[in-house]
Amino acid sequence: MRGLLVGRMQPVHEGHLEVIKRILEEVDEVIIGIGSAQLSHTLKDPFTAGERVLMLTKALTEKGIPASKYYIIPIQDVACNSIWVAHVKMLTPPFKCVYSGNPLVQQLFKEGGHQVTIPPLYNRKLYSGTEVRKRMLEGKDWESLVPSSVFEVIQEIDGVSRIKQLTIKEVNEIK
Ligand code: NAD
Repeated sequence: MRGLLVGRMQPVHEGHLEVIKRILEEVDEVIIGIGSAQLSHTLKDPFTAGERVLMLTKALTEKGIPASKYYIIPIQDVACNSIWVAHVKMLTPPFKCVYSGNPLVQQLFKEGGHQVTIPPLYNRKLYSGTEVRKRMLEGKDWESLVPSSVFEVIQEIDGVSRIKQLTIKEVNEIK
């Protein structure tokens, strides 16, 4: 059986890896949709879909999860929520159950006739993309919230400088 998890993963953090490990206790294979794939270079969505694929692939390898257990598929947003489930299904291998902590994702897949499971959150106060990005901006410890392979990818792409530059850009746009 195959399960689906969709997330923006801006960036990939330890909470995502915990939930993926948990899903793989219940299903044979997990499809991981990289949501809002078209977005990058904003404070809320700083990283490209390709960079997020890289982070996730390296982190899954670091955690010892074999490549035969997952599919990583970038998924762009669509303007109409009512057709999003069909759009996701067009892009992904077939799946039975959906895992999501996001109420809109849960609602859309339930209405589409899918079995939806709400996985437990692991230390959500710390393990959240918002917290990681905030700490990057404030120069605080964010490294401990992400797998070390994700830290290396963010170093490689100079991700912290990008976020800091984006603050300057967005402040200038307000002026
Ligand atoms: P996210 O990266 O915040 O979270 C993804 C999932 O990871 C969550 O549902 C949760 O199950 C898990 N998770 C996150 N932190 C965790 C933690 N600490 N412990 C355990 N699990 C944790 O992403 P998201 O915002 O839920 O992503 C939804 C995506 O779906 C977005 O890209 C959104 O745009 C897309 N979407 C698009 C449409 C559309 O295009 N019309 C409609 C609905 C949703």
